[in-house]
Amino acid sequence: TAVPEITLNDGTTIPQLGFGVWQVPADEAQDVVAEALKVGYRHIDTAAIYGNEEGVGRAIAESGIPREELYITTKLWVSDFKAGQTKEALRTSLQKLGLDYVDLYLIHWPSPEDEKYLEAWKALEELQAEGLTRSIGVSNFLPHHLDRVAEVGTKTPAINQIELHPALQQRQVQEANESRGIKTQAWSPLAQGAVFGDEPIVKAAEAHGVSPAQVIIRWHLQQGRILFPKSVTPERIASNFDVFGFELSDAEVDAITALERDGRTGMHPDSFN
Ligand code: NAD
Repeated sequence: TAVPEITLNDGTTIPQLGFGVWQVPADEAQDVVAEALKVGYRHIDTAAIYGNEEGVGRAIAESGIPREELYITTKLWVSDFKAGQTKEALRTSLQKLGLDYVDLYLIHWPSPEDEKYLEAWKALEELQAEGLTRSIGVSNFLPHHLDRVAEVGTKTPAINQIELHPALQQRQVQEANESRGIKTQAWSPLAQGAVFGDEPIVKAAEAHGVSPAQVIIRWHLQQGRILFPKSVTPERIASNFDVFGFELSDAEVDAITALERDGRTGMHPDSFN
């Protein structure tokens, strides 16, 4: 199973399918990530606020997998950049992860009331120049936040990581990303299970002899998005990665797309301060 690589606007590449660890408890993270690496995932999505970077780092160290074969993302928490601590925050994350650099560093939320995210963006540009992160990007940014970054920054974010699943597709944000050369990552790609029982998903799963989760992962992959479903169950960790042996028809993709219903599970970016 070769996971496709997506080329970013800074010339680097990222495995399209990864593994997310939000809500994986700190004391389980090492085992869960070790399981994911064993199955073949090479792209891990964590964040300072998840509190599990140390476990992720231990799993990486014990795996023996060469660093250059891994793609590790972490994220800058809001309270750190509000306090002007962006550079210290990445250094702390690197220490916890046991790494010299991450592949991707994201501003986790814009928390836009005081526009402190703009200073954070300038700090990310410097951290990239210093080699502590290969790529820099944002998360939960709306088009008007991207516009402000474009006015103030010298680089375009490589990534905008947003909530995106069949029940919330954020087409305007996807189009805003695309028109700026920013790749979209889908967070909570499975809607945390909320759409597993929806008819087009169940029908496609039956037709292909796969699970609803596998159908949704294909729906994302076939539309070119980067995603990292989360599970702590070994069988699900494995089956969520076993998605390269079947293909959804255009009609199946379209029927799932039609499930859109503004089913936001997280915060709205403009009201998260
Ligand atoms: P998800 O959509 O990946 O759903 C995960 C849940 O779905 C699991 O807890 C489990 O209950 C269920 N599940 C997974 N695989 C299954 C299977 N094969 N069969 C049945 N049930 C299954 O949810 P998520 O963890 O919220 O999102 C994935 C990742 O996105 C996170 O771990 C994190 O890395 C990232 N994320 C980022 C942000 C952000 O603000 N940037 C916010 C949320 C999540």
